[in-house]
Amino acid sequence: MKKTLLREAMDRISKARHIVQARAPYSSPTLYGLVPHFLEENKKGFSLAVTEKSVLIINPWWVVEDEPEVQGKNGMEVLAGGLYHEVNHIQRDMSRFIGLKAEIARIASDLAINCTMQRAGWQLPSWVLYPDQYGLPNFKTFEWYYQALLRMNLPEQTSPGRLGAGGCGSANFNAPSPTEKELDQVLGRAPEEIQEIRIQSALKARASSPGTDAGAWEEVLSFKKEKPIIPWEHVIKRTFQRSMGGTSPGDDDVSYARQNRRNLIGNIIMPGQVAFERKALFIRDSSGSMGTEEGNQVNNQIIQIMHNVGFAAVYVVDGDVHLQGKPTLCQPRDIPRLQLKGRGGTDFRSVLDDVLKLKLKVDVTVIFTDGDGPAPRQKPKGLGHIIWCVVNSPYMRKPANWGTLVVCSNDREVLRRMGQPY
Ligand SMILES: [Zn+2]
Repeated sequence: MKKTLLREAMDRISKARHIVQARAPYSSPTLYGLVPHFLEENKKGFSLAVTEKSVLIINPWWVVEDEPEVQGKNGMEVLAGGLYHEVNHIQRDMSRFIGLKAEIARIASDLAINCTMQRAGWQLPSWVLYPDQYGLPNFKTFEWYYQALLRMNLPEQTSPGRLGAGGCGSANFNAPSPTEKELDQVLGRAPEEIQEIRIQSALKARASSPGTDAGAWEEVLSFKKEKPIIPWEHVIKRTFQRSMGGTSPGDDDVSYARQNRRNLIGNIIMPGQVAFERKALFIRDSSGSMGTEEGNQVNNQIIQIMHNVGFAAVYVVDGDVHLQGKPTLCQPRDIPRLQLKGRGGTDFRSVLDDVLKLKLKVDVTVIFTDGDGPAPRQKPKGLGHIIWCVVNSPYMRKPANWGTLVVCSNDREVLRRMGQPY
């Protein structure tokens, strides 16, 4: 690809972003939350698309030279409309159609988006789909259109990357290489992070003047944020309380059922109210048994801990049979983009040995793992409190008889098997 083409595509996308920002200022958290990825090969017909995890896939040839509608007099307006259409996919959480019939769901979400955009005066490419083309009324929800289209028995059609016409809104529509899944793995954002972004935009939209398409964004506010499985603020508080002589020795796992919460408040700083000044090291088990799903759970848990406890930054490092690289200081927004390094076997003995050599002064170390690997017999000194966070996986087990165990599961059977007392 010519450098100038890419540069021009970036330039046009950035101009389009300014147009969107000016017209729909409330959209900025979602708009700037998109992670752009430019195709390296021209895939004819592919324009813009957004993945489940907020990666914006852009065909630079489409942006710069292949598409008369984008290169014409109103070209920048059309490009801005296209960009805003993708923002809507994320903002209106079209990812909830995963598990449904993807083709129908993508058309349904485009119908829901395009009619509200049209009403608000946005320009869209001429080919995008509107409800009346299917004899359907405007301004219904995605779910409504999905049900209506299902009953129509539409013929199969695939047009990956065809913006606004059933080809741009995720659900693994087989983007050209690298695939959507691969992109999400490398560049994508964690679901919690996307939900935070959505809520920020929706709140801004609610506060903005009525009469825009912002009304449609309200739907996100009625969604329940998924309740975190692990009440991290309690785990961390409890862990530190123990160091101050709160519990009997040997009773090292966290029990929420038996905890008297009133006793905790007042004696100990409530995390979230006051910035947490202690230092934390997060070790991600990067062995081969940790797949994409497990890796996502780990990243989500890291972000949840940071948000719930109030860590502004933490050290993060990966380890399999050895430590992989040096711990880096990370903020929550860095986490989804941290690629797992390693992918060998698992040996917590050598990983923890390697960590000790670094002489990091930390108050708490959290090891995220499926638990499948040997650990030192004794708790190593010099890593502060150690928490084993075992993610949901076929291998899950408690790796050691020391340290605090928390399990990423709601399944009672799993918790019983793991010996987790809550
Ligand atoms: Zn779309």
